[in-house]
Amino acid sequence: MLDVIVIGAGVSGLAAARELTRAGYSVAILEARDRIGGRVKTVDDFCDGLMEGGAEFVHGRNAATMKEVQDAGLNLRGLPQMRRTAFNLGGATRWLPLICMHPETWACAGMRGKIANAQPPDMSAREFIEKHGYKGRARQLTEMTFLQHLPGGVDDVGVLGMVDDGVLDLQTRYNHRIVEGYSSLPRALAQGLDIQQGKIVKAVTWRCDSARVRLEDGSDHEARAVISTLPIGVLKSGAVDFDPALPSSKQKALSQIEVGPIIKMLLHFKKNFWPNWMEMVACATGPVNLYWSVFRGVAGGPAALCAYCIGPRAAKLAGESDESRMEILSADLKRLYPKADPRRDLINFRSINWAEDPFACGGYTYLPPGSRGARESLKAADTGRLFWAGSGTESRPVSELVETAYLSGLRVADEVKAALNNGP
Ligand SMILES: Cc1cc2nc3c(=O)[nH]c(=O)nc-3n(C[C@H](O)[C@H](O)[C@H](O)COP(=O)(O)OP(=O)(O)OC[C@H]3O[C@@H](n4cnc5c(N)ncnc54)[C@H](O)[C@@H]3O)c2cc1C
Repeated sequence: MLDVIVIGAGVSGLAAARELTRAGYSVAILEARDRIGGRVKTVDDFCDGLMEGGAEFVHGRNAATMKEVQDAGLNLRGLPQMRRTAFNLGGATRWLPLICMHPETWACAGMRGKIANAQPPDMSAREFIEKHGYKGRARQLTEMTFLQHLPGGVDDVGVLGMVDDGVLDLQTRYNHRIVEGYSSLPRALAQGLDIQQGKIVKAVTWRCDSARVRLEDGSDHEARAVISTLPIGVLKSGAVDFDPALPSSKQKALSQIEVGPIIKMLLHFKKNFWPNWMEMVACATGPVNLYWSVFRGVAGGPAALCAYCIGPRAAKLAGESDESRMEILSADLKRLYPKADPRRDLINFRSINWAEDPFACGGYTYLPPGSRGARESLKAADTGRLFWAGSGTESRPVSELVETAYLSGLRVADEVKAALNNGP
């Protein structure tokens, strides 16, 4: 019998499997797709350069994955965010510091501190905004602070959950792109591991001394321990059965944590029509949350934008065809840059909709009001020899990042080592 089966070859599963393999355990990873990396997915066939269909950035020089990036000999490109960020609050597209100089924004000067120091009872982002009386631009900037990263609406996102999940910290980190593509990180982690692709897990039976998984092809695989790194969207969808049923604490946690839709859209143009200094435009209104100029500063790089669309805006665009999304974004870019003709200059367009991906069932998660502590219940090692990892099982340092997936893999590997050494 194998020592450990890991379900999922995303970053969390790969980190766990590598740690356990290095410690001498026999480990196999069962992965549903015909590729590794999960929600890390570099696109290499869109334009003359690598773009990201999933995770985009390594967040901060101190990210836990930084050492893996360096050990793998990968190169990084930093994004000096503030200096190169434009905002559009409905009128003209302006440089962020100019936006902040407008007197209407001053009312929310201490807003981040107020969020960070929020106390129970929990409330939604909308209730927080109303409690503090933010109006006009101050309201828009506060909404953007809540919803720039979290894929929910103002009524959905809880203030205390956002603080627990470290999201405010994320917004001040110095982001980096991996020049060789983000997928080169899971590829480096996967070296020498036993990874079986195209293996869709349908059921997990857990006991106090072993666990078994059943695949879609009807085969059974048993091990002394099983690690689930299934995304929360997949767990919530009921695509995988558990026998016995998960404890009520875990079921409650799954019902509390929300999964939001995310659509990334890649646009390749004949030439740049946005200013050369511009790294990112954040939009308070319109169909998408923000655009990144992916190859800014890269000599000879393609004129490409990545549009990031999450939460209610993604839910709205999900109902559109690819053709119609292309028209909607072209019109939106014309709104942001009225002198340009984005539709005429567009060479290629592609959408990546994570909500319709059966092995993600959404982008990533957030905590609605009153769901503080749900991630801790989800990761608790209280299901015999079935253990839990994945970026949605951790709140720290920032929930739902590649870095967090990696750390959850290391954490669960320690739990499994302790369980297997001590015996049932
Ligand atoms: C659009 C987008 C942008 C993002 N941007 C960033 C960013 O800039 N920076 C950042 O740090 N993070 C970002 N993230 C988050 C980051 O990608 C994830 O948090 C991280 O990759 C999750 O890793 P994981 O191993 O926990 O889960 P996953 O990567 O989802 O891995 C789970 C694995 O389980 C497999 N699986 C699912 N169902 C089954 C089944 N039934 N049987 C077998 N296998 C199954 C999946 O195929 C997958 O390979 C982004 C995510 C998205 C969607």
